Amino acid sequence: MISSHSREAYSLGQIPITPSAMATQNGCKLCAPLGASLVFKGIRGAVPLLHGSQGCSTYIRRYLISHFREPVDIACSNFAEQTAVFGGGANLKTALENVSRQYDPALIGIATTCLSETIGDDVPMFIKEYRAGRNAATVPPMVHVSTPSYQGTHMEGFHAAVLAVVSALAHDGTAGSEQRVNIFPGMLSPADLRHLKDIVAAFGLKAMVLPDYSETLDGGLWDTYQRIPSGGTSVEDIATAGSALASIELGHTLASRTLTAASLLEERFGVRAIRIGLPIGLRQTDALMLALAEVSGRPVPPRFTEQRGRLLDSLVDGHKHVNTIRAAVYGEDDLVAGVTAFLSEIGITPVVCATGGRSRHLTAAVQALVPQKRHAHITVLEEADFAAIEAAVAAVQPDVIIGHSKGYAMSRRLSIPLVRVGFPIHDRMGGARLLHVGYEGALALSDRLANALIDQRQAASPVGYTYM
Ligand code: SF4
Repeated sequence: MISSHSREAYSLGQIPITPSAMATQNGCKLCAPLGASLVFKGIRGAVPLLHGSQGCSTYIRRYLISHFREPVDIACSNFAEQTAVFGGGANLKTALENVSRQYDPALIGIATTCLSETIGDDVPMFIKEYRAGRNAATVPPMVHVSTPSYQGTHMEGFHAAVLAVVSALAHDGTAGSEQRVNIFPGMLSPADLRHLKDIVAAFGLKAMVLPDYSETLDGGLWDTYQRIPSGGTSVEDIATAGSALASIELGHTLASRTLTAASLLEERFGVRAIRIGLPIGLRQTDALMLALAEVSGRPVPPRFTEQRGRLLDSLVDGHKHVNTIRAAVYGEDDLVAGVTAFLSEIGITPVVCATGGRSRHLTAAVQALVPQKRHAHITVLEEADFAAIEAAVAAVQPDVIIGHSKGYAMSRRLSIPLVRVGFPIHDRMGGARLLHVGYEGALALSDRLANALIDQRQAASPVGYTYM
């Protein structure tokens, strides 16, 4: 996929970096409907449907399956040449009919692709026309999200889909006896989502997590094939979002968006919006614990104090291996910001922080999260591709690279170890089970970082060593 785009790099030390090419070379981003499909996979009984050509859904399915190693059905309205000329209304209606008949879905999530956006298909009108000829009771809820990839990355598609779902389904309803909180976790792993739900439940709160693909994309072995895997947040639970005690939205760079799911619920129903960074590392996990303690009116449960203690102990133990280390981090804006904050806490200097994302808020987030005395050493790249990232990394030669598996070729060429985080992880097992969040996630990440550095030193030693 080749597209022209603006590319910007900033040095916190005020050294400007000039873009050297006008075309993307191996993008550090994925396409917008992929992010939207992931959100729809986190809703119980939902089927994602792409309005566009089959190649888009095949590419997205391939990407998701290679990471999650689960079957992923994504329907498509299958554009052909004549559809591109005359419009895709008929195709979309046929697709809606087929999906309704074959899957009996609780919701159909419709995301557009570059082609249907380029020809200007009026998807809301097509949906209205489809509904008009049918018994309303037999038509599943439908949520449409506009996801032209030439205007945004998978993260734009992801956040747009969360917003579209909340906007279409949430109402104020009755609060009931449960103490409920909305959690908008951002794009985390299934293991992260499970851990977050455990944390929220320990405060006596019921969480409406959107999206929750912790089971649908990381489930058990089946006896018989399931067209729609079990799990996910139900449409009914999403509908109660307007009467929750609060919404907790995770992500440092969400401040750059004019409207998010949490801010919409605050505007429409008065649900208090609490925004904190991804809870990666000590301080951001502390912030999550404090937020949950405040919302629930309960103290932090002892088991998290114990986990925090174990994390601190492990950081003291591993300090000699990571102190003075320099790292390059790349991936989604919010993940990069979260990992950068954690590195800074444990004595690793982040020297390159890069994203293909378009939030244009990573620089501000890094500035806020890293002590000022280190700013001069950090280069932040936004809207960057791997050509730009590799050039920046090669220039500063860090000790370790942290990011998803698309950076493996760079790591291999530069002989710098890669610690895998985020999405996609296509060249290792267990990408869905990587834990990043909470005290336990930080502990796992710090162990993996220290071990990667020890491994590198052992390999480089002429004699090797087995005891430290
Ligand atoms: S939606 Fe656009 S970027 Fe994504 S696969 Fe289709 S054509 Fe490519």
